[in-house]
Amino acid sequence: MKKILFAAAEAVPFIKTGGLADVVGSLPFAFDPEERDVRVMLPAYTAIPDEYRKNMRDITHFEVGFNGRQRYLGIKELLYKGLRFYFIDNEEYFGGPSPYTDYMYDIEKFAFFSFAALAALPHIDFQPDLIHCHDWHTGLIPPYLATQFRYDPFFANMRTVFTIHNLKFQGLCDRDTLRNISGLPWELFAQGPLCSDSSGNMMRGGLEYANFITTVSESYAREITTPEYGEGLDAVLQQKQDRFYGIVNGIDTEVFNPATDPALKRHYDVSRVKAGKAAAKAALQKELGLDVNPDVMLLGIVSRLTDQKGMDLVMPLLEKLTRSGRCQLVVLGTGEAHYENGFRQMAASRPQRMAVCTLYDEALSHRIYAASDAFLMPSRFEPCGLSQLIALRYGALPIVRATGGLKDTVRSLDKAGKQATGFVFEDYDVGGLNWAFELAEKTFFEDRPLWDALRRNAMREDFSWKRSAEEYGKLYDL
Ligand code: ADP
Repeated sequence: MKKILFAAAEAVPFIKTGGLADVVGSLPFAFDPEERDVRVMLPAYTAIPDEYRKNMRDITHFEVGFNGRQRYLGIKELLYKGLRFYFIDNEEYFGGPSPYTDYMYDIEKFAFFSFAALAALPHIDFQPDLIHCHDWHTGLIPPYLATQFRYDPFFANMRTVFTIHNLKFQGLCDRDTLRNISGLPWELFAQGPLCSDSSGNMMRGGLEYANFITTVSESYAREITTPEYGEGLDAVLQQKQDRFYGIVNGIDTEVFNPATDPALKRHYDVSRVKAGKAAAKAALQKELGLDVNPDVMLLGIVSRLTDQKGMDLVMPLLEKLTRSGRCQLVVLGTGEAHYENGFRQMAASRPQRMAVCTLYDEALSHRIYAASDAFLMPSRFEPCGLSQLIALRYGALPIVRATGGLKDTVRSLDKAGKQATGFVFEDYDVGGLNWAFELAEKTFFEDRPLWDALRRNAMREDFSWKRSAEEYGKLYDL
């Protein structure tokens, strides 16, 4: 039986700041345990809720030399829903209220995590055939494996897959600093595989040394080999085309299930969608102080409030979206102050039509997906995007830009007709978003049978992890 270790900075339910956590917390469960022994390694953040921390078992602890001195390396273990999770303990690095602190310190702590993940393996009675690394935080695992750990027979046949969840975040810092922190051989820096331009680059380490590279949708895989989306690494990825794959993410269809969701008072599936969504809409309108009106078109946003997510396109349209009183807008998200403030100001001027919640609230997000008729996600770029998949499952039709995973997972009315699941615009400008919004609005108010048909299509889409897990399985077996 193949043994696979996932290594990552986040996984639900232990710690989450974004979609990475959803992926790492659900993909491992999608493999058949008779075929593959999949386990997960994470940092033992003190920010992990006590309900999990108190059940972790100490396996062992010892000291390792890292960045100039001896460091504590503890290994904890937790069996969660039948899957074994390991946690690398070092309170100096993984203490504090949040997994990320200051950028430079994050470089050091995830370099340590990458090193410690390998150093821990001989002590946990688990010798993986393959380590599946996720994003820049684990980018140094493949180079460590190819250098420091290479001569230890325990590691000799270990292979790696590196998955890019977001190429924008690469773990960049001064080249000498990364060399000193990591202790990796100087040649790796002098000859470039751990650098881009003259900076040290942890993500590039993963790309250069992993046996296979994947990213989270086919379109994004194509896009990031171009200078427009490549974040300076397009040429590197182009060279590696023969071992670079796009595999679309799924969602946890048990967690995101309107038929059983504990966040909803009234459950629904595709056969009871009208009544279910009407109840969710009325409840959310009441909860957030909006006019309680079943006839308005409710638009939802659940997102980081950043340029990546297309908030600069939403801002100029706020006035129009909420002017007529036919539409209401609910925004749940945190991010750049100018967006948070811009949304708040607009909501304050029309509290019956617009509500903004600048916080992170999982249950509220579920109530928004359920209550929304349409879901706005006009991203500038989108590796995969989970929010639109959740929106589809809850029958909120996505209004998205044709980029990355959005392009691969939403079928637009203008192209797919009755088979459509949403509204997709091409060019990244306010006019594009406005066009898609107007098409949605027109359909909602003038052709309700068509809207209902699209909603049924959306809810019937299968974005369970099963398909993606099969693709990853093929790659693990290569
Ligand atoms: P990214 O990882 O780039 O932020 P994704 O669409 O891949 O975007 O995943 C975002 C995930 O985080 C979704 O599950 C979404 O519902 C959730 N999310 C984003 N912002 C919030 C928030 N403020 N409160 C609750 N959930 C949120």
